[in-house]
Amino acid sequence: MPLISRNPTRPVQIGSITIGAGHPIAVQSMCATKTVDVDATVAQTEALRGAGAAIVRIAVDSRRDAEALKAIRERTDANLSVDLQENYRLALDVAPWVDKIRYNPGHLYHHERHRPWQDKVRFLVDVANQHDCAIRVGVNCGSVDPAKREKYAQDDAIGPMLESALDHCALLDELGFTRFCVSLKDSDPAEVIEVNRRFAAERPDVPLHLGVTEAGMPPEGVLKTQIALHALLAAGIGDTIRVSLTVPNDQKHQEIDAGRKILADVAAGHTPNAQALDPGRLNIISCPSCSRVENEAFVHLAAQVKEMTAYAADQPITIAVMGCRVNGPGETDDADLGLWCGPNYVNLKRGGNPLGAFSYGEILPKLKEELDAIINAPTDN
Ligand code: SF4
Repeated sequence: MPLISRNPTRPVQIGSITIGAGHPIAVQSMCATKTVDVDATVAQTEALRGAGAAIVRIAVDSRRDAEALKAIRERTDANLSVDLQENYRLALDVAPWVDKIRYNPGHLYHHERHRPWQDKVRFLVDVANQHDCAIRVGVNCGSVDPAKREKYAQDDAIGPMLESALDHCALLDELGFTRFCVSLKDSDPAEVIEVNRRFAAERPDVPLHLGVTEAGMPPEGVLKTQIALHALLAAGIGDTIRVSLTVPNDQKHQEIDAGRKILADVAAGHTPNAQALDPGRLNIISCPSCSRVENEAFVHLAAQVKEMTAYAADQPITIAVMGCRVNGPGETDDADLGLWCGPNYVNLKRGGNPLGAFSYGEILPKLKEELDAIINAPTDN
């Protein structure tokens, strides 16, 4: 099997593995269990590791999550990455138990708004140095730093993401911290290809974590990721990958299986059929779920939305289904219809307009009503 030729990125050690500098491309995934449920999270971590995950990410939102992570660390040898949300200071509590800290530049401004983001990154770098951790600067289309967002046209998804990533790299350089990688994720495979190509051209030294965010359910979610990652990996771009799929917890290994298949296909020269993704057809994007999912009915709801909307398959409409109220509102911004789940209600919006919160029993008929209204709306031509 021919090897994939790779960009000359620098090595970044993450626990027992190294990414970049020609090391094998690491396939990773993330736990979707409640982090405080130590038994379930250890079981999922081990299942992912058993399937071939080189790194397993776990979200931490609270001190209780941080305490759970300590207990999880004691029961697994997996290379662990922590996903920080807004509360960047939790890094101090979790760093002793993990190998990598992922922060999102777009979330840093939420806490302590008077403090410049640069101070917050300095704090994270100090913590990482102190506890022998790598860092991922994880830029995401749905939660870009608002200060970057407002500098670009509304329809320019790439400019703010790229500038955000490059600014953070420049600061990490200035601080003398080299043990980091970057990710630039979008739910549109074409944007993922473009933004990562442009980043790699500017910073060929920085290892890249590749993925399509909110790719959705298989098989469409796998196809979207295949198309984006194949184009990048075949061009030598990418040092670690994640396939984000909306699947039940006991099926999370599908993310690793799909990631390994993508690598094997690239190495074998098999090209995915990009035409299979028709932009003129209904597009359902949904998050892969994580510990922040507030009602476990979310994955089932995403499947029900797919089934119920099948009659509109030839409509150029995007429906976004997200698992929580933290990221749901932002991550559904670009969709025609957006849903995000709370503990008892599902929030719905059409375009930018909130339509209210509906019970899990009410949401599908309401969604259908709005979908029909879009389909039947008079057009300008
Ligand atoms: S939208 Fe919420 S539940 Fe879904 S992956 Fe993102 S943070 Fe987790």
